Amino acid sequence: MPAGRHFLQIPGPSNVPDRILRAMDYPTMDHRGPAFAEVGRAALEGAKWVFGTENRVIIYPSSGTGAWEAALVNTLSPGDTVLMYETGHFATLWKKLAERLGLKPVFIEGDWRRGADPDAIAARLKEDEAHEIKAVCVVHNETSTGAVSPIAAIRRAIDAAGHPALFMVDTISGLASIDYRHDEWGVDVTVSGSQKGLMLPPGLSFNAVSEKAVAASKTAGLPKAYWAWDDMMGPNDTGYFPYTPATNLLYGLNEAIAMLREEGLENVFARHTRHGEAARAAVEAWGLEVLCARPEDRSGVLTAVMMPEGHSADRFRAIALENYDISFGNGLSKVADRVFRIGHLGDFNDLMLCGTLAGVEMALSDAGVPHRKGGVQAAMQVLGGGQSALRAAAE
Ligand SMILES: *Cc1c(COP(=O)(O)O)cnc(C)c1O
Repeated sequence: MPAGRHFLQIPGPSNVPDRILRAMDYPTMDHRGPAFAEVGRAALEGAKWVFGTENRVIIYPSSGTGAWEAALVNTLSPGDTVLMYETGHFATLWKKLAERLGLKPVFIEGDWRRGADPDAIAARLKEDEAHEIKAVCVVHNETSTGAVSPIAAIRRAIDAAGHPALFMVDTISGLASIDYRHDEWGVDVTVSGSQKGLMLPPGLSFNAVSEKAVAASKTAGLPKAYWAWDDMMGPNDTGYFPYTPATNLLYGLNEAIAMLREEGLENVFARHTRHGEAARAAVEAWGLEVLCARPEDRSGVLTAVMMPEGHSADRFRAIALENYDISFGNGLSKVADRVFRIGHLGDFNDLMLCGTLAGVEMALSDAGVPHRKGGVQAAMQVLGGGQSALRAAAE
């Protein structure tokens, strides 16, 4: 093992803070015993705060993919049409999952360089006079590209079209990093996971639900067993679960929520925005291109960087790992070997970002990738300026 800490700078799983590791390092308890109710209730209530909802949040012991499936099987029936948007790799995976469940996705094609376009969604909904489309599904923070979709504007587009479809949003990598408001934005099912902005290890996933979604679940015809919201709701009311929850991850979730409350969600979002801006300043100084084409779509969670023609992103990542013990995210499917992704999310600060960007800059040299020096310097300028601006705002 190399000396010092490994830099896990992939866009999820993110670094788990020591405080959360300590909170999980505690005996697993009887999940049906009297002491558990407090743990369960704190987790279920705290999750509501993070999602910005007064309604329920269902917590599963599963990866995010499970919560994708849960959102669909609880609310839809075999053969239902769903409108999905090709923002990138994760949106494509959700669409494939929908197909395997016997749903009929209408896929609005995208170029993997921007967020979902509300006007394109509105246009498809207006064509659907018979209201065959039962749900609109959008990825909020597309982790394969670093593009953010405007969820509030998409809600307005659905309303303007006068369409009754459910609105489902995957914010697996957006939650607790960039602004998200389940109730205020009128989302019916929000899908998320533990291992990104929530700073936990992988293993928990979430469905925040609206009353409309719960009503749809009463008549939805797709088969469901493990994912059934119905079975969860009764036990959840008293802080319990119908089957064994991921007890130690719930200890961790409660600690993560405490940390987010202490920092304040607004400050957490501002920190991610600032780190995104600093990372992009570095990319620009290197003379490289950010995959996400429109500045207003660019994410505070990650930055996907395009490799100059003829240079392998995977070879660059292997060299970075070998020489500096740092992991960057790979390019997924369509952009495999063409991009690398810098994660700047979760338990992360200015100097971790500087170290990460220094790792990129040195590995670019080692890999013989043409670039200009000074990326870290450019990022430091943004970070330094940001700090004095923050201080000025506080005074
Ligand atoms: C990570 C991620 C997923 C997949 O989650 P798993 O936990 O790997 O199943 C889905 N969507 C987005 C946007 C993600 O970032």
